[in-house]
Amino acid sequence: MSASSSDVRFDAFKLARRAGSLAGSIDARELPYVAETLAPGDDPVPIAWTIEGRKSAEGRPSLAIDIEGSAPLVCQRCLNRLDWPVEQATEVLLAGDERELAALDDASEGEVILADGPLDPAELVEDELVLALPFAPLHEGPCPGQG
Ligand SMILES: [Zn+2]
Repeated sequence: MSASSSDVRFDAFKLARRAGSLAGSIDARELPYVAETLAPGDDPVPIAWTIEGRKSAEGRPSLAIDIEGSAPLVCQRCLNRLDWPVEQATEVLLAGDERELAALDDASEGEVILADGPLDPAELVEDELVLALPFAPLHEGPCPGQG
């Protein structure tokens, strides 16, 4: 028997209530929405993550999602590899159902996620990583080997 991904799912409201935290590391190449934006290669791209349950400033159940690592991207100017530092901390509010999701979305500037069932940490990390990576990455200053 092998472990299925559902084994790592967690109850977000419970985590928020008891101010618990989860941590792990994930290979960004295994995340479908991220993998295609990475520079090609076989090397793993470890992204360390922590998810902490807490209350938002307004006292609502929320999660603090931190991700950290380095993602190999392709520079859109010279088409060479560019290692992009990833360091992002985000707070997301939890909605118990679709109605609450819509209401919180209207009322809040921040991110709101639907947590009407157990959540998969990998999916949360993937969403944050998609937001953290630039659409058109460029080397800072002149590209290496030019100018
Ligand atoms: Zn470049």
